[in-house]
Amino acid sequence: MSVAVRFAPSPTGRLHVGNARVALINWLFARGRGGRFILRLDDTDLVRAEPVYSLAVPRDLRWLRLVWPKSDKRKQSDHLSDYADAAKQLTKSGRVYACYETREELALKRRALLDRRQPPVYDRAALKLTTAERARLEKQGRKPHFRFKLDHRLVEWIDLVRGPVVIDAADLSDPVLIREDGVPLYNLASVVDDISCGITHVIRGEDHVTNTVSQIQLFEALGSTPPIFAHLALLVGAGGESLSKRLRSLSLEALCADGIEPMAVNSLLARLGTSKPVEPFQSLWEIVESFDIEDFGRAPARFDLEELKSLSARILHEMPYALHADRPYPDRMETAEERLRELGLDGIDERFWLAVRPNLGRLEDAREWSQVCRGPVAPVIEDSGFAREAAELLPEAPWDEATFGAWAGALEAATGRKGRALIRPLRLALTGREHGPELKYLLPIIGRERAVARLAGKTA
Ligand code: GLU
Repeated sequence: MSVAVRFAPSPTGRLHVGNARVALINWLFARGRGGRFILRLDDTDLVRAEPVYSLAVPRDLRWLRLVWPKSDKRKQSDHLSDYADAAKQLTKSGRVYACYETREELALKRRALLDRRQPPVYDRAALKLTTAERARLEKQGRKPHFRFKLDHRLVEWIDLVRGPVVIDAADLSDPVLIREDGVPLYNLASVVDDISCGITHVIRGEDHVTNTVSQIQLFEALGSTPPIFAHLALLVGAGGESLSKRLRSLSLEALCADGIEPMAVNSLLARLGTSKPVEPFQSLWEIVESFDIEDFGRAPARFDLEELKSLSARILHEMPYALHADRPYPDRMETAEERLRELGLDGIDERFWLAVRPNLGRLEDAREWSQVCRGPVAPVIEDSGFAREAAELLPEAPWDEATFGAWAGALEAATGRKGRALIRPLRLALTGREHGPELKYLLPIIGRERAVARLAGKTA
């Protein structure tokens, strides 16, 4: 069976880590099986859906490096007639019925049931309306909304994450398929699209488990076999708290602005909620190899921003400068060469990258070290006599990684200083900073001319 999955966000905001996790898991699942990944924008609710967000969704996914053919992108607002056709078919088969209750009336009914400690299930009062009663309501100016008449029986499926699920449809309200303004709602539009796109697996958050009951019946009522379902446990904060209030700061846009590496987001989200360890992956294709949807458990997955930050730094510390044929999937991995160029840091070579990467928290930090290597840097000289002596003992060019050791050895022999007392003033003079990448790597990049000037206290 060829696999097809879809990621179906409603474009009512920027994608956050919760959405990204669903997108990523769908993508990895499809890639691992040579299947299709379809991006579907659930934008029938034109009041809440905003065009800026529709444009941002594919951008955010591209930032995550989730690539897929352009043709596998669609939006529900382009398919309104399909939903109308399906509603007609369901009306004909007696599965859709008109209802006239206002929002307030429905809220009152719900309240009354809850007060009696009963589940707030819609009472199907509209099904009992006579033709005359309906006509009277319409004459009063009431517009009908339409509900799907659930078949009151047990609905069962084998969920790829939750295992066997059995839910009695009689415990649920008949879902509204079409609003009084004629807008088709999620359950109808989603099922119609899943059928027309040949979706084989629906992978989404567990907040949709109840919808699945209605949707399975909708697939069947429309003459189609339901897909396989997988409902992922929700993402919660490190302390088990809901992430709902922090979603804006956990948007991909905010993470990108914070300098988080996209592969860190992928590496973490692919493993949260599984028992496999989190690893700093450099390419999505490495994740595909070890990905199995059945690894995900039912317990909420804990998302910790600090863990993400440190993973992001680890990814930088291991990021190769250029493509290496000996790495898996060499042509698909992130390379510093490309990323630094995107940052506008040209002319940076592998030697520089290997010297500075262990000190990076964010890629952007490379800018500072680039300046340290190329200048201008205002040196910090605390003991000018020592600095002068150090300048005199600087070896002749050419320099390499052994130069610093030879120089420090000569200085130690000449001055008796060693350890921190020797290294600290050299670092302050050469870089203007207390801390930084190893001097044995920086020194040959800084070069003799600049080193001499800085040791003499000149900005160079
Ligand atoms: N638009 C729905 C959501 O964002 C889609 C859910 C689904 O995958 O069916 O929750």
